[in-house]
Amino acid sequence: MKELKDYADEINKCSKCGLCQAVCPIYKETGNDCAVSRGKFVMLDGVLKGDLKLNKTINKYLEMCLKCGKCTDFCPSGIDVCEIFRTAKHEYLKNTLEGKLIRFIQSKAVFKNLLKIFNRKKSSAKGNTLYFAGCAEKIFPNNTYAIRDILKVLNFETNEPDFDCCGVPFLASGNLERYNEAMEYNTRLLNEQNGDFILTDCTSCENALKNYPNLNKKVTNTSDFIAQQNIKFIFKEKQTITFHKPCHLKDDTFLKVILSKCENIEYREMENYDDCCGFAGQFALTNRKLSLALTKKKAKNAINTGADIILTTCPACILGIKQGLIQECGFFGKQPKVMYFSEFLSKADIIQQTA
Ligand code: SF4
Ligand code: SF4
Repeated sequence: MKELKDYADEINKCSKCGLCQAVCPIYKETGNDCAVSRGKFVMLDGVLKGDLKLNKTINKYLEMCLKCGKCTDFCPSGIDVCEIFRTAKHEYLKNTLEGKLIRFIQSKAVFKNLLKIFNRKKSSAKGNTLYFAGCAEKIFPNNTYAIRDILKVLNFETNEPDFDCCGVPFLASGNLERYNEAMEYNTRLLNEQNGDFILTDCTSCENALKNYPNLNKKVTNTSDFIAQQNIKFIFKEKQTITFHKPCHLKDDTFLKVILSKCENIEYREMENYDDCCGFAGQFALTNRKLSLALTKKKAKNAINTGADIILTTCPACILGIKQGLIQECGFFGKQPKVMYFSEFLSKADIIQQTA
């Protein structure tokens, strides 16, 4: 496992050009240079030179990050910003009480038992398609049922063994040992199972699985998969929808393709549809005010379209948009519905294969 000092050269590659400021949602909201990658690299460079201590204050700025990866995609020096931040976080947490608590809650025994309180969905092992539901779908299983319905029309059955978490929350909190445990367990299980390819409907799980180094099966998100099928979704009544693109969704070309397979849908693009929703799991707890401000902005843009339904492909984004809608419309006020894209498709009055 790499340590922060192993990234010294990478950190020094930062030319302090400041281009990351233009894309970082946190910088746009706060104007604080310590919150964007450039500022964090100045601090981490100070730590490596012995001028600064990797303390609570630096950790606060490390946590002031949505892990959206926008700065990584944009950085002209090609620095893997998120990897450096999580290594620094891992180093900080190693000897703190907070780190011990995180490691306890995220340990396999505790984490899986917490999920079992919610999860009443039975796993199945008969199908020809491996389905990786992810932890959020274990708590809110509607989407897994929706996927099964759509796959049935296409003559696919799901095989859903008892996976561990994909590991994204462990990475985000710097618990790299627990991430490696989950990654190795899931890789072994996925490689051994029936099923030629792996489907998942959670953008974060998709990203995590695609980064497992020894996985020997192809990972596809369900929206890309549906876009490639000969299938039609007929809604008897007209539906107006808008779509939020999660930060970790690299390619959303499926959206237009699937909409062309739907009858009676009107799509209205929201302003900044690919801006972060502002939730980002743990970020919503550790940076409450910032998260509320960003989710409110997202909800406002969605409401302005006048669409009845807001669709997305990430469970954390669903929570973020709902958090924003409560702020914009009030808890009991009239709000647009928020749903997974696949769940929405499964509600079509007729789903049929086409020639
Ligand atoms: S864009 Fe990259 S090189 Fe430029 S300041 Fe940001 S992190 Fe440094
Ligand atoms: S990952 Fe996103 S939130 Fe974090 S520093 Fe980069 S652009 Fe900002």
